[in-house]
Amino acid sequence: MKLKVLGSGSSGNCYILENDEEALIIEAGLPFMEVKKALDFNVMKIKAVLITHDHGDHRKYWFEYVRAGIPVSEPFKLDGSSLEFDNSQFRVMAFENQDKSGRWLHNNGDGSECPCYGFCIMHPDIGSLIYATDTEYVRWRFKGVNHILCEANYDMQFVNRDEPNYEHRLRGHMSLDTALKFISTNDNPALRNVVLIHLSDKCGDPAVFQKRAKEVLKYDTDVYVAHKGLEISLDLCPF
Ligand SMILES: [Zn+2]
Repeated sequence: MKLKVLGSGSSGNCYILENDEEALIIEAGLPFMEVKKALDFNVMKIKAVLITHDHGDHRKYWFEYVRAGIPVSEPFKLDGSSLEFDNSQFRVMAFENQDKSGRWLHNNGDGSECPCYGFCIMHPDIGSLIYATDTEYVRWRFKGVNHILCEANYDMQFVNRDEPNYEHRLRGHMSLDTALKFISTNDNPALRNVVLIHLSDKCGDPAVFQKRAKEVLKYDTDVYVAHKGLEISLDLCPF
């Protein structure tokens, strides 16, 4: 199974997990047409779209999937939505990005809190994959995880503290240090891939972030920084 990155960051998030038979879309922050092209117009293989929270860079194009009859899974909506898909080997669990007091760890522009979920995605080809973004941290630990896609939004060394409200823009996002703690907490011999996602254009540096992540990992794990067009194999067994 392949991971295809169509977009990662505040200008629009969208990822595809795809093998010959099926595909799962994570986030609807880019036009459906871009997903269609990436799938060579084989849209029948899409089992569902998972959306973490109700912000445009993650959800803007949800209706295009609804119009195409594709299930859209949005655990942040009060009526809930199913995480079970017909004729699919994907198994998905959602987890809350809340702290222990129940505070959501992502924010709206007005400072109010925004429900935001992460996903644990399982498939026989890949084992388990954790997807976490737009949260200040993740309080859960995942045993024996095979792949991690985790936000590493900013590092204070790249933040211009002279800009007004700079702290406000960082709120609700994960720092590199927090991402590294999350990754090392979940590090294990079966961890194949770590993909750092949703970097800030101004407050991050892909080469530095990749190097720092490699330094905290103990085993033979590949580290990537997500960018448009990145494609990686997630297969546990490459043959
Ligand atoms: Zn976002």
